[in-house]
Amino acid sequence: MASKARKTDWNRALAPLFRKYGKKKHPLEYRSLYQLVVMVILSSRSTDVFINKIAPDLFTAFPSMKELANAQPEDLFPYVRGITNFRHKSGWLVSIAGTVGDDEHIPTTMEELTKLPGIGGKSANVIIGESGGKAEGVIVDLHVARVAPRLGMTKSDVPGKIEKDIMEKVAPGYWHAAGMGMTFLGREICRPKNPKCGECVVNSACRYYEQAQRHKGTKAQSEKGAKAQRDRGTKREDGVAESGG
Ligand code: SF4
Repeated sequence: MASKARKTDWNRALAPLFRKYGKKKHPLEYRSLYQLVVMVILSSRSTDVFINKIAPDLFTAFPSMKELANAQPEDLFPYVRGITNFRHKSGWLVSIAGTVGDDEHIPTTMEELTKLPGIGGKSANVIIGESGGKAEGVIVDLHVARVAPRLGMTKSDVPGKIEKDIMEKVAPGYWHAAGMGMTFLGREICRPKNPKCGECVVNSACRYYEQAQRHKGTKAQSEKGAKAQRDRGTKREDGVAESGG
């Protein structure tokens, strides 16, 4: 039987999201590519708020890749203690600095970035997108992994597959905007519990919202039917009572 699934033009459907969040700054308060790379690595499994808090002292002590390249991982500990996995992350940062040497040689391609320790596809997508490079993938964090299936862009809960599904549905020029837009939407509106669908700029394209509305309609319909039945029953009883006088 032919599928009745409706075909969505996601470039068009997500346009309100691109408009709303397209110019919004990344939650990590970085001031250079060097700071971006360091903060992205540190933020894995830590909150952006905490990384923003500790970063100024870290960057005063290590203003660029050059200073970091001359450090030992232990030298970073006083600044990054409290961050999840801070010992490994310190080692990765010093190792990266030793490899790239200075800020001018920080790579901005997926291939080169993912060769560096502590940088996977997700981090590389953030670094490439934020540095204005040509997106080679879509950022899939916890928020995107919740929002994309709700929207109906994927049926998967595996980040790699979610990314692939989004890349197939959205033009490459929008990959960074799509990932960041869904991240912001997930942080602000599409929360794990009680998403604020009424306020959501992409609710007209959202499967989750469509199903919720349909469910509400069915419930209202059956409540109306039950009430009508109750009313008919009451009338009948009244009739019996009257005729039985
Ligand atoms: S309509 Fe609701 S469920 Fe769908 S993306 Fe928006 S907030 Fe999330």
